[in-house]
Amino acid sequence: MADETSDGVELVGVQVNEDTCIGAGQCEMLEEDTFYVDDDTVIAGVIGTGMLPRDRAQKVVDTCPSRAITIVEPAAEEEQ
Ligand code: SF4
Repeated sequence: MADETSDGVELVGVQVNEDTCIGAGQCEMLEEDTFYVDDDTVIAGVIGTGMLPRDRAQKVVDTCPSRAITIVEPAAEEEQ
């Protein structure tokens, strides 16, 4: 079953590559309920469900200066 909100908005997962994150913090500024930057390591991580509507997830991906964020596609269980 595809993940979606009650409004039918498609949700996708996001993840951070800790090896390439430079701690710039744009992800946290854009989506504070989904990303945080650890004060000690200055590396971002995913919090909460780690799910965002696809357009917002893509915006964060495009905004990250080190391209450390990737979209995790939901399991393709519902092939048409
Ligand atoms: S925007 Fe990218 S580089 Fe900056 S903290 Fe988030 S994941 Fe790391």
